Amino acid sequence: MFERYTEKARRVIFFARYEASQFGSPYIETEHLLLGLLREDKALIHRCLPSQATVESIRNQIEAHTTIREKTSTSVDLPLSNECKRVLSYAAEEAERLSHKHIGTEHLLLGLLREPRTFAAQLLNSQGLSLDTAREIVSKWQKTTEASHEIVKIHGEECDAGYVQAQLPELQKFAWRKRQWKPLDILVEISSGRTFFDITLMDDLGFKLVVGGWPREFCSLCYWELNADGGSEHASGYTNGREWLCTECYEKFLEPLDKARG
Ligand SMILES: [Zn+2]
Repeated sequence: MFERYTEKARRVIFFARYEASQFGSPYIETEHLLLGLLREDKALIHRCLPSQATVESIRNQIEAHTTIREKTSTSVDLPLSNECKRVLSYAAEEAERLSHKHIGTEHLLLGLLREPRTFAAQLLNSQGLSLDTAREIVSKWQKTTEASHEIVKIHGEECDAGYVQAQLPELQKFAWRKRQWKPLDILVEISSGRTFFDITLMDDLGFKLVVGGWPREFCSLCYWELNADGGSEHASGYTNGREWLCTECYEKFLEPLDKARG
């Protein structure tokens, strides 16, 4: 069902499910989707709700509104509430309306606003964000990204130029250096099998160290896989010490900007 979703939009659903399980909710509700959006697409949220205090206040209101039940295991596949299902079909309609091939986070936001009786929509409305305003912001933003970019091809495949453009301001904040990809050592929580990245917690008895336990990473722009055994094209990329970009994305998008900056 999520084939047409951009990676970011998929992560919103993933986080929404996570938030729902943390609250012990039997369904993924619209407010969990909203929390997923706040977490995943700070650039979009910033354009629509410029003040950081607003974002905090929304988060607090959701927490205050929720009866916290016992946490559900994150491995349980929580279903979407009916409102959420409608939000997702509205999101698809919004993408259609803007003739976007992919369903992105901006469409999910518009979808949320089209279900006006839900808690998520009420929170957004109370912060001054109406459906009309949000549509205006999204289409204006789309025009600027379209004007500045044609179709881009990465690794021989056409990719979402608007998406790439939108990520660049954030990526530009970092210094990128070429590095060989090496599998990372990680900690694994013994009781649950979940991953923990900070190995300074090694002496915590609840965790065991797995050397090279994180074998691959993905390019933050095109999701090209970096790994140690997929041949030279996959073996190195550019990193800011945390995230990775494939060589092609770095050279195509960030290097020109770095050069222009001198
Ligand atoms: Zn890439």
